[in-house]
Amino acid sequence: MGRLTGRVAFITGGARGQGRAHALALAREGADIVTVDIAAQIDTVPYEMSTAEDLQATVDMVEELDRRIVAIQGDVRSQEQLDAAASAAVDTFGHIDILVANAGIWSLGRLWELTDQAWDDMIDVSLTGVWRTMKAVLPHMIEAQRGGSVILTSSVNGLEGAGIYAHYVAAKHGVLGLMRAGALELAPYGIRCNAVCPGFIDTKMTDWQGAYEMTGGHEGATRAEHEAGAYHWHALAGRGLLKPEAVSGAVLWLASDESQEVTGLAIPVDAGHSILPGFSPAPTTVRPVNDSR
Ligand code: NAD
Repeated sequence: MGRLTGRVAFITGGARGQGRAHALALAREGADIVTVDIAAQIDTVPYEMSTAEDLQATVDMVEELDRRIVAIQGDVRSQEQLDAAASAAVDTFGHIDILVANAGIWSLGRLWELTDQAWDDMIDVSLTGVWRTMKAVLPHMIEAQRGGSVILTSSVNGLEGAGIYAHYVAAKHGVLGLMRAGALELAPYGIRCNAVCPGFIDTKMTDWQGAYEMTGGHEGATRAEHEAGAYHWHALAGRGLLKPEAVSGAVLWLASDESQEVTGLAIPVDAGHSILPGFSPAPTTVRPVNDSR
């Protein structure tokens, strides 16, 4: 018997990356899966977002594990679509026990140069989208009176500042506020609410030219420089870009009864990034105020 046999997990952003890794990790332990992913591009996102083929690949992988999955192409910016997905989950499986609000986007720009659209898209997807997901799923979890576990994906950028993506930093700090308020409000129903704070994870979100230049520290930096630069982000020896499965380990623990007395916690999965003194990713193109030193 698996650690999650008989449980149902609702996961946003499951078409690829960490969301897919979480779906597979939970399915391997016996959970059935419902996932919602936009599987389409958002114009202010500078890297390629997931596709319908990616979403189908997740379906195939979960089914290969002999678990059931409902995959819905939907946008966490739409309450209507999330409500419909939560209803479909309950219609199909009878209940939802685990919520993993993982969908998110990333883009770059100095805070005074971000466009209104880039700001709005970031907050709508990565913060409001988390709240909307909770709003769609929680009434079903509460009504079922089975308790449950809610896991929100924040970031180390929910715990610290970082150069050239203030909108992301603001959204991820907001997710931790939502998590702490949620932990208090859900406690009377036996529902736990925690967050994971991933470090530098090797997914499509971080595998594009702008990311290479941020990590590599100069324009035109290569994927190899990106990989080499990533070593400086982590305290643990030999850790470059981390694998999505590293985060799934924490998600699985938070989803399982092994963490039954844990709520209101933000767990960094960052190979010790958070304990590095004074570390913060610096803007590659920043010009010091006192240029003449
Ligand atoms: P990813 O881009 O591979 O996966 C994100 C998934 O979310 C994609 O499948 C995408 O289509 C989906 N998505 C985006 N906007 C959506 C929307 N509006 N509605 C529904 N689905 C949507 O990246 P990832 O690294 O797997 O990111 C997963 C989460 O982890 C995100 O919240 C991200 O901010 C967070 N995170 C990532 C890193 C990292 O270094 N990659 C670090 C810390 C936190």
